[in-house]
Amino acid sequence: MRDPAAGPSPLLDAIRIGFGFDSHRIEPGGIMHLGGLSIDCNAHFVGHSDADVLLHAITDALLSAANLPDIGQLFPNNLEENRGRDSAEMLSLAMDQVRETGWELVNLDCVVQLERPKLSPIKKELIERISSVLRTDFHRVSLKGKTGEGTGAIGRGELAEAHCVVLITKSPPLAAT
Ligand code: MG
Repeated sequence: MRDPAAGPSPLLDAIRIGFGFDSHRIEPGGIMHLGGLSIDCNAHFVGHSDADVLLHAITDALLSAANLPDIGQLFPNNLEENRGRDSAEMLSLAMDQVRETGWELVNLDCVVQLERPKLSPIKKELIERISSVLRTDFHRVSLKGKTGEGTGAIGRGELAEAHCVVLITKSPPLAAT
C-alpha cells in the first residue's frame, strides 16, 4: 500500500487519455480520403486539406492527450501550404510531437459514421494504414464503422463524422513507484 504522505503516485502522470472528433461534408465525385486510403467511390469529403475526417479525429485525440496545440493550430486552414495537404503526413508529424514530449501510444479506438461506402470490406486495410502512419502495432488500433440509419445528414450521405479516443503513456511506460 502506497504511503499517502508520499504525495500523488507518479503513475498519475504516466498515463493520459485524449478524445478527438471531426466532421466533413460529402459531395459527389472525386476521391474520398479516409484513414489514409484513397477510395474511389464517386464521392469526396470537402475541406481545406484532403479532408480525411478519420485521420483528423485521431490527430486531435493524440495531440489533446499530450496537451499539445490542436490540429487547427498546428495546420491552420487559412495557410496555402495546407491546401489539399495529405492528412497522413499531418498525423505523422503530430505523432512525432507526441513522442518528442516523452509519450508513447498505448492504443486508440475510433468510430466512423458514414453512410457509404461500407467500411467492413476495407476495415483491415484502414487499420493497417493507420498503424503504419503511427509507426505502431496493428493490434493497437481499433476501428468501427457505423451508418446514420438513413436519417439525418449522415444518413442522407451528406456528412461523415469520426470519433477517436487514445491512451498514451510516458516512455518507458508505467515506471516503478
Ligand atoms: Mg477536419
